[in-house]
Amino acid sequence: MIERSLVILKPDAVQRGLIGVIISRFENMGMKVVGMKMKWADRDFSKRHYKDHVEKAFYKGLEDFIVEGPVIAFVVEGIHAIETTRKLVGSTEPKQAAPGTIRGDFAHHSYAYSDKKGIAIKNLIHASDSVENAQKEIELWFDKEELHSYKTVHEKHVF
Ligand code: AMP
Repeated sequence: MIERSLVILKPDAVQRGLIGVIISRFENMGMKVVGMKMKWADRDFSKRHYKDHVEKAFYKGLEDFIVEGPVIAFVVEGIHAIETTRKLVGSTEPKQAAPGTIRGDFAHHSYAYSDKKGIAIKNLIHASDSVENAQKEIELWFDKEELHSYKTVHEKHVF
């Protein structure tokens, strides 16, 4: 039941100065950060990360967006971490994302607007959508020695 999920703060989150406030949301819910880095992805790396989307119409805009500046990648560990992280992140389209979620609180972009402008949807954050994809994404973004095991007080009071 204890899972690890990959989270990426996309270039819009970094450039808007939201790194700290977003990471705090994960810490506040008791998630343990077990790895973290800043990386400026190139087009080849984007294709590896988004391999399921490369053939889709929106991919070109998504790639242009994800390589336009550095991102923060981190791995969170917690109970049902995949599901609980996706709940915290909110719907992919910020317009639909509920208040209280990261996308609902910090963005309001819509598919209609991004399609009209020919740009990616500015939705701040990526979070793995399944245990299988989380394992693959964590392996892509992090070497084994960049991930750490340690105890937090949450393991006494939250887990
Ligand atoms: P996902 O793997 O579902 O998290 O999707 C990865 C990213 O692709 C999302 O965070 C969006 O940036 C983008 N995306 C997914 N679906 C769409 C869509 N229908 N239109 C535009 N961008 C999308």
